[in-house]
Amino acid sequence: MPIEVTQVEVASILTRTGGYLRTVASHSLQPYRGCTFGNSLCGVGCYVQHNAWVTRGRPWGGFLEVRTNAAAVYRSSYERETAWARRAHGAFSIFCSSATDPFVPQERQFGITASLLTAMCERPPDLIILQTHTHRVVDHATRIVELSRRCRLRVHVSIESDRDQLPGLPPSASPVERRLAACAELRRLGVFTVVTVSPLLPIAEPERFVERIAEVADAVVIDHYIEGDGSKNGARTLRTPLPDAVAAIDPEATTLAYRDRIVELAQRLMPGRVGVSESGFAGQYA
Ligand code: SF4
Repeated sequence: MPIEVTQVEVASILTRTGGYLRTVASHSLQPYRGCTFGNSLCGVGCYVQHNAWVTRGRPWGGFLEVRTNAAAVYRSSYERETAWARRAHGAFSIFCSSATDPFVPQERQFGITASLLTAMCERPPDLIILQTHTHRVVDHATRIVELSRRCRLRVHVSIESDRDQLPGLPPSASPVERRLAACAELRRLGVFTVVTVSPLLPIAEPERFVERIAEVADAVVIDHYIEGDGSKNGARTLRTPLPDAVAAIDPEATTLAYRDRIVELAQRLMPGRVGVSESGFAGQYA
């Protein structure tokens, strides 16, 4: 499917959070609207595809709006949003991103996330969480390390399984091995790095997978689409082909009992470094 890429100017870039994200950060920030990973494995169950305000009727994965003035708007709104966040939330914290990936391949051409990281080095938030599905995050290691010296920072790399593909679904946009390698590199550079197993998919070798995560990341977050996709009982994900593809491999993997079994395993192999669902995204580990 051809991808329609457009360049737009936005009036605001820092969105005050509502819903489940409120416990995670005071603001969300999307360098792009749309996500060009939408036609890969993570896009199958991606909850953003159900947001008509984002898609405006366009097929998920088929469009990308490049927010060319994102860094300038960040700078101009920084003081107002910092003051509000510290008053209302106790800290100015940013989740980047909840409705796109900050490191889509087009970032190499447009550099929107790079320009935002530079702006944040000048005007740092209290905390930033960089959430991604791709190894391409390491392209930005220098800026990320610099920003981590100015504020609290976590990089969350989603790795849902040790499988790159589920039968009948498209492959992942970024190979599992490359994402694990990206985590290892960021951690080596002193960046607090978290693997978010989100949404948790059937894992071929659970013990080996968690051991690998323990080697490359400071913490892990286990998140099932039930309780994890922002809707009651995973209703949004149930409207997609993902649950059937999961059930074809392992019916138990469509239940919270499966999540609890993987959490137990992770707590045994990574004591004190395991988060679960929303509180895990908020940085609480046990
Ligand atoms: S990278 Fe994130 S926003 Fe993009 S399609 Fe995958 S899950 Fe959705």
